[in-house]
Amino acid sequence: MGEHGDELSPLSTIHEQGSSLSFRDHALLSSLRLDGSLTFSNTSSAASDFGRIRYSLPGAILYPKSVRDVELAVRAVQSSKGSGLTLAAKGSGHSVHGQAQALRGVVIEMSTLKGIKVAPNGEPGFRHPFVDAAGGELWIDILKATLREGLAPRSWTDYLYLSIGGTLSNAGVGGQSFLFGPEISNVLQLDVVTGTSQLVKCSPTKKSDLFHGVLGGLGQFGIITSARIILEPAHEKVRWIRAMYTDFATFTRDQEMLVTQAPESAFDYIEGFVVLKNKDSSHGWNSVPFDAKKIDPSIIPEEGGSVLYCIELVKKFSPNHMDTLNKTVERMVAPLSFIPTLIFTIDVPYEKFLNRLHEVEISLDSQGLWNVPHPWLNLFVPRSSIGLFDALIFKQMIKDDFSGPILIYPLNRNWWDSRSSAVIPDESIFYLVGFLRISLPSSGALLGNLIADNDKIMQVCHSAKLGCKKYLPEYEDTESWKLHFGKKWGSFTRRKQKYDPDFILAPGQNIFSKST
Ligand code: FAD
Repeated sequence: MGEHGDELSPLSTIHEQGSSLSFRDHALLSSLRLDGSLTFSNTSSAASDFGRIRYSLPGAILYPKSVRDVELAVRAVQSSKGSGLTLAAKGSGHSVHGQAQALRGVVIEMSTLKGIKVAPNGEPGFRHPFVDAAGGELWIDILKATLREGLAPRSWTDYLYLSIGGTLSNAGVGGQSFLFGPEISNVLQLDVVTGTSQLVKCSPTKKSDLFHGVLGGLGQFGIITSARIILEPAHEKVRWIRAMYTDFATFTRDQEMLVTQAPESAFDYIEGFVVLKNKDSSHGWNSVPFDAKKIDPSIIPEEGGSVLYCIELVKKFSPNHMDTLNKTVERMVAPLSFIPTLIFTIDVPYEKFLNRLHEVEISLDSQGLWNVPHPWLNLFVPRSSIGLFDALIFKQMIKDDFSGPILIYPLNRNWWDSRSSAVIPDESIFYLVGFLRISLPSSGALLGNLIADNDKIMQVCHSAKLGCKKYLPEYEDTESWKLHFGKKWGSFTRRKQKYDPDFILAPGQNIFSKST
């Protein structure tokens, strides 16, 4: 499979390693009568991903124009018994560990399968707005299409240039998840081409085993060709607030109080960050204000450890109701115990807020800092362990040279359907903690060292029995996957046998391997 560490082989070496298909597989795929197209050359565009850690050159790329193309490709790969040929759906390729790659296999570029249809009034029997979107469509395009009808999905990731199929194969977590659950909890229906090449319409009431299995299913059971997503009325603007803390217990107490409030009196979005205790404008305290203004270091309290914490809140509003908004927000922040001089506020259009990371992307890209390796580690940490997690990891292992944001915010388990394939800790509140590391060529932060730092975090979690679960997991061996899935391993393997018995789908996840 792909390479790990700093000594990445150049793509040309990987190519020599064997990208080409056997004569038989090549002939089989060439014989398909497709609406779209298939290429056997220039497949390097599907060999890498946002992580830039793993490189696996596929033997072919399919650009589907119809669901039938997807069915034909799956059927062909399934029929190639004994050849080792596999198939991966690729959304926007924003995985970081090769999850959408297929070495010497077929990658389906889902982005060419188009379709977004908004139903503002629902349909007979279900008078609630929804959108039907093809699996390769991006969330940003769903947002734009639904806003034209004054509507929008309820639950979001922080970044919108991700595909429907790719996020639903994980969970899709963000600042609205405490209120509406992750994106997988906001899906009404799916169209899926299973590993046995059956096109199945499934929902919580129809073929529900497949429906729940596919959500958070890491692409193992089928290819999502379409998803029906619930919508709500969109708002015009949001008030966006950041407030800083030195004391971790106070910070998490406030976050937990906020995510357990009744929905009608809650904020519309709650996240948080760990901020380095220095004046760096990327990851230190000067990264918190919305304008470029620098914080006077004398107002940063000296107590506390090596890091600071920042809560991020949003309240939606209409510009006609500014008076009410001011009073409401004042009342809502009153019980919070942040450092009174360190609160920052800005009002922005709703779409600008949801698409906020795109501006960061453009800026980093212009400096050559977007297409660099991203050895990210995302964890779900049980509430009962979060204090110890802070003491052992944030306070002791996060150094001044940490490069990249560190996210931390609580989620409510009651919004997660236990029948889905997503794996979360067994507590009613758990935290998303994301170490979103960037390996910058200039900083000397070598990829191998950063991966080793992530491994150390995992070792500490394990030794201290913190009960953490990886989000966007990646493991190399079956034992680790078994441990990851815990009680869900039985249903996960049963579903694999049922929906992809030849183990052809999403080989880049390294959970199962097709026998040759
Ligand atoms: P890909 O990388 O293309 O695919 C991921 C997996 O899904 C692969 O196994 C692939 O085979 C499978 N797959 C893809 N399409 C389909 C399909 N149609 N049917 C079945 N399987 C399919 N995640 C969050 O939860 N919250 C965030 O706030 C968040 N922010 C992010 C910000 C950035 C900048 C980045 C790079 C990632 C972020 N993520 C976040 C992680 C992201 O949700 C996952 O990496 C997701 O898988 C990316 O979607 P994708 O379309 O790029 O998937």
